[in-house]
Amino acid sequence: MPQNLLDFDVAQLTAWFAEQGEKPFRARQVLRWIYKSGEADFEAMSDLAVSLRNKMKQLACIQVPEVIHQELATDGTRKWLLDVHTGNAVETVYIPEADRGTLCVSTQAGCALNCSFCSTGKQGFNRNLSVSEIIGQLWWANHQLGKNAEGNWPISNVVMMGMGEPLLNYEHSVAALRLMLDDHVYGLSRRRVTLSTSGIVPGIDRLREECPVALAVSLHAPNDKLRDQLVPINQKYPLKELLAACTRYLEKAPRDFITFEYVLLDGVNDSVAQARELVRLVADVPCKFNLIPFNPFPQSGYRCSNTNAIARFREVLMESGIVVTTRKTRGADIQAACGQLAGLVQDKTRRTLLKPLQLYEVRQ
Ligand code: SAH
Ligand code: SF4
Repeated sequence: MPQNLLDFDVAQLTAWFAEQGEKPFRARQVLRWIYKSGEADFEAMSDLAVSLRNKMKQLACIQVPEVIHQELATDGTRKWLLDVHTGNAVETVYIPEADRGTLCVSTQAGCALNCSFCSTGKQGFNRNLSVSEIIGQLWWANHQLGKNAEGNWPISNVVMMGMGEPLLNYEHSVAALRLMLDDHVYGLSRRRVTLSTSGIVPGIDRLREECPVALAVSLHAPNDKLRDQLVPINQKYPLKELLAACTRYLEKAPRDFITFEYVLLDGVNDSVAQARELVRLVADVPCKFNLIPFNPFPQSGYRCSNTNAIARFREVLMESGIVVTTRKTRGADIQAACGQLAGLVQDKTRRTLLKPLQLYEVRQ
């Protein structure tokens, strides 16, 4: 099997070239071709000797997951369904805005954590994505969209908020993050790359030391009793430990706040009393809140909070001085909302029967 070069970070590619008897700078040269130029054909890498190009054709390949479906919304939002083999597929979603282009990437096929409101969780865990399958989402999306008028790739921001829990696929997720940040690769700033976690405390600590990027934490409840039900991993890493890890993270984080995500579920976690409890809970953690109206999916058993409840909840947080964003509807004519992707992937025949879903803008 040829070696997929998208599976290598900079150090690994350098080592691989050394094994082939090549100089270390070849790694940087090839990385620039792959990522800066978006080149997948060794033949086109014109500053490599013909003998090296031939060797690479024999030993290596540049391969991204195959796209099995793609959709474009009227507002420019795009999503691609990617085949990751063994019957699994994941989605990647591009969200254009005036001042940025954000790609929402997946890190696992399915998820083991089974949050009660998430359709990826309902699918169960299938497998971890490889580095090439994660970074390949970015490569593919940039390649498809093409460079802008200034000669830059359109994706300026990445959020690891697609399918799966990135900190439970730690090695591959972090290797992909490092590639995104590396100057020879995409050179994205740490502030423009956000990892979202349901609260894997040891993973948060490790990320702080090894690759601190902007952090989003899925909170969803103001106390352990409710969070134990909604986000079962809370039973292992309860709120006190999670919030302490958030505070530690800020010592090294590229931003001076944590983003807390909070899905609003009608009659479950959206009361004024719960908002007040939440304010007390996070009092010691510099944070912003991202309120996410629940995206329904069949048999979820939950409803999205109504507009008044969302407004009241938001008011309470804002009155205490917390900055709050509420995700806005985007791409309503394609189906690509948070936590809904897996259901669509699992049963593709149903896609046309489902009501058009909503995609929510990702803002930090
Ligand atoms: N596993 C990570 C990242 C992927 S989920 C995490 O849980 O943070 C990304 C975000 O989508 C999380 O905040 C998650 O709670 C939210 N989400 C999941 N299902 C949702 C749904 N049905 N409606 C709205 N948001 C949902
Ligand atoms: Fe997994 Fe995140 Fe969905 Fe929970 S919300 S089941 S952690 S993908």
